[in-house]
Parts: sequence; structure tokens; C-alpha cells
Amino acid sequence: MEVVRNIQVKLDVSEEDYEVLDETFEQFRQAAQHVADHGWDDNPYGITDTKNTLHEETYSDVREKLSLQSSLVQSARNLATDALSNCKDRKFDGEKASKPEFKGTVVVYNGRTITYNDDHVSLATVDDRVTAEYVTPVNEDGTPFEDYWTDEWEKAEATLHKRDGTYYLHVAVKKEVEPADSIDEESENGVVLGVDLNVDGYVAVTSTGAFLGNADSLNHRRNEYERRRGNLQQTGTRSAHLTIKSIGSRFARWSADSLHRISSEIVREAVENDCTAIAFENLKHIRKRISNASKFQQWAFRELQRHVEYKAEEYGIDVDDVAPAYTSQRCSHGECGFTHENNRDGDEFECVKCGKELHSDYNAARNIGWRLVQHWLKSGAERATSQLALKSGTLNANGRFRPTALRS
Ligand SMILES: [Zn+2]
Repeated sequence: MEVVRNIQVKLDVSEEDYEVLDETFEQFRQAAQHVADHGWDDNPYGITDTKNTLHEETYSDVREKLSLQSSLVQSARNLATDALSNCKDRKFDGEKASKPEFKGTVVVYNGRTITYNDDHVSLATVDDRVTAEYVTPVNEDGTPFEDYWTDEWEKAEATLHKRDGTYYLHVAVKKEVEPADSIDEESENGVVLGVDLNVDGYVAVTSTGAFLGNADSLNHRRNEYERRRGNLQQTGTRSAHLTIKSIGSRFARWSADSLHRISSEIVREAVENDCTAIAFENLKHIRKRISNASKFQQWAFRELQRHVEYKAEEYGIDVDDVAPAYTSQRCSHGECGFTHENNRDGDEFECVKCGKELHSDYNAARNIGWRLVQHWLKSGAERATSQLALKSGTLNANGRFRPTALRS
């Protein structure tokens, strides 16, 4: 399976290069428009949308008229060809389509016209190449874009854009991913990482015993932000309004960054334990269990799961929801499974029947993972030997524990 990520990188272009880049936008636009004008016909049968034909019929004209190098002329032609094809399809489908009009705020780059370096990029223009440093430290979802600047990811097409006077590079990166359960013979039948999410204490606790994130500090920062915003709103001045905006975006960045870090650690935990799936308690169920969860906390859980799904996909790891009842009351120790409300007292879990003591959230994480293993077991025999990843080994569906040391 191919995983594609679109990375947006802000560029630091020195002022003296604005002119040549803007001229490149304009000439690229003209090149694409020339091809679109040439290939267009009001009758869909008359629209030319084959690259070779359009190349033969327009290339020399465009080269003569403009000072774009041949690779950029070809990219412009491809852009126009795709737009023409699109129009043709729409017309054949009985939809309305008018001749493509290019606006001049995009240049499409490929391997011959762009060179990526660690901290800067070099771009072909109508004149000499222009170099620009990367500014954006993180991607939209909070991932540092450097994560995708490795050999693992193949950089496909890139487009240069200009918005409000700032230059941005959009780069499509791709990688071929094998589903995790086909990589490792050992885990062929599925190993689950269970994850418990909380509004206080640790944000996430895994069945492997990783305690991640500080929910109290997340709540505290949020309350602090709400309080300051409330005070500023009362003053109502223009400068108060600007301060609200700035503390708002600072808080948004901070919380996105925290959630990103926690989700990355969850995925790393799954990768290190050869897991093929990550199990969460479904959000509807969390809402019921934690009836006083704020909108912010609900949002945070949603974001966290979204980030984990996004990141896990890059390793071929599935993310599944379970709707477990009594995850906090059930004893997750071996085959015990005794479920009683007296088993739990705050952070502490002590099984009334077998006497096992565990951190409550850790116990819940193990139950969440166990539910998914059970679900697999019921839905088909292929995964009969599915396992739950635990702190020092795995637990199979029958409740038999295998320490890490015994795993090959
Ligand atoms: Zn027990």
C-alpha cells in the first residue's frame, strides 16, 4: 500500500529573488494557458488532452515566446493537459465545464527543476536558480516536516505557491508500506496495543506500561487560557482583542504539539512491540464514562486518535475502536477477568478475587487491548493466536502469558 503525505513548507525567500520568482509564476501561467487555449474546444470530442499531441503542437511556440526551461514548459503542459482531461470528462458526464483559466500562483516542480537540501531548496526559474531556506518547523498535523525529509520517503511532485506575499512549497512525499501483520511472521496473527485515555493524571496509558502526557497540565493551561481570555474580553479594547488572538494561537500551538508528542509515543510503543493494531476505547464510550469531560478534552481525545491513525498508517499498523464495558472494573491479570466495582479505588486497582495490584489506567489499557483480541477471536479463526502486547511480554487470547525473553 502506498502512503502519501502532503507537506507544506514555508520558504524564506530573499527579497531580491521576489521578482524572478514572480516572473516565473507568470511565465508558467502563460505556458499552461497557451496549451489550454490550443487544446480547448466547446465540443468535448474536439478537446485535445493527450500529452504527446499537445507537446508536438505547442512546445516550440512556448519555448520561443517564453524564457522557461524545457522541464518547466513540460510541467506547465502537463498541468494544462490534466485540466483539459478533467473538462472533457465533465462534459461527457453532462456537467458544465469551461476552458481552464490559469491564475498564475503556481509552479509545478519535478526532479529536474527542484533540489532538496537539509535546510534549503533550490528552484529553477526563468533566470538562475533561486535558493530558499525552509521556515515551517512543523507540518499541519504537528509532525516536524523533517520526519518526511528522509530517504524512506520519496519526494514526488512539488508545487510552489504564493499567498499574502509569502512563498510556500507543497511537496507530495510517498512511501510503500506493508501491513504490519504481513511483515513479521511472529506477529502474523496480530498483536494489539491497548490504550486508555484519561482527563486527569496521564493522558494515555498503554498495555505495555507506557504512561504518557500530563492531562493535569493540559487542563491547567487550558483553564489559564480561558481565564485570561475572559478577563481580556471584559476590557474590550483593541489591544486586548489582539492579545486574545495571540494567546489563543500560542495555546493552540502548544496543545497541538503536546498531542502530537503523545500520539508519536503511542505509535512508537506499538512499533517497538511489533504490534499490528492499536486499540482505543471508542469516543462515544469515553463520553459516557467521563460524563464531565469538557468540550476541550473531547476535542483532545479526538485529535489524539486522529494523529495516531495518521502516524500508524505509515507503519502499516491498524487503529481500531472498541466499546468495552467495565474496562476499569475488570481484572486484566492472566485468566482472572473478575469484574467488580470494588476492584478499583482511584488510581489503584486491586482485584478482590485474585489480589493482583495494578495501576488503574494500566489495567484499563490492558482490558481495552484484550477486547480487541477477543473481537478478532470471535470474528474469525485466522487470528486465533492473536496477542495483547504487555509490559514484559504478550498475553494470548486464552490468557496465557509469554514473557518477552521467550519470544523469538
Ligand atoms: Zn483478578
